[in-house]
Amino acid sequence: MADTTKQDNWRHCNKCFGLWWNGAPTNGVCPAGGAHHAGGSWNFYVPANPAEHL
Ligand SMILES: [Zn+2]
Repeated sequence: MADTTKQDNWRHCNKCFGLWWNGAPTNGVCPAGGAHHAGGSWNFYVPANPAEHL
């Protein structure tokens, strides 16, 4: 897998301990209840390959 770029704006949820992308209008549904919550999270840059679609 060739990482060709990085995607900005991923956050760590302090409720379900997962990462989600914070660039959408909502924070999405958190498995721990409600929406994901980025209390104290870093801003993560996730390696990505835009040429490789599912
Ligand atoms: Zn969450």
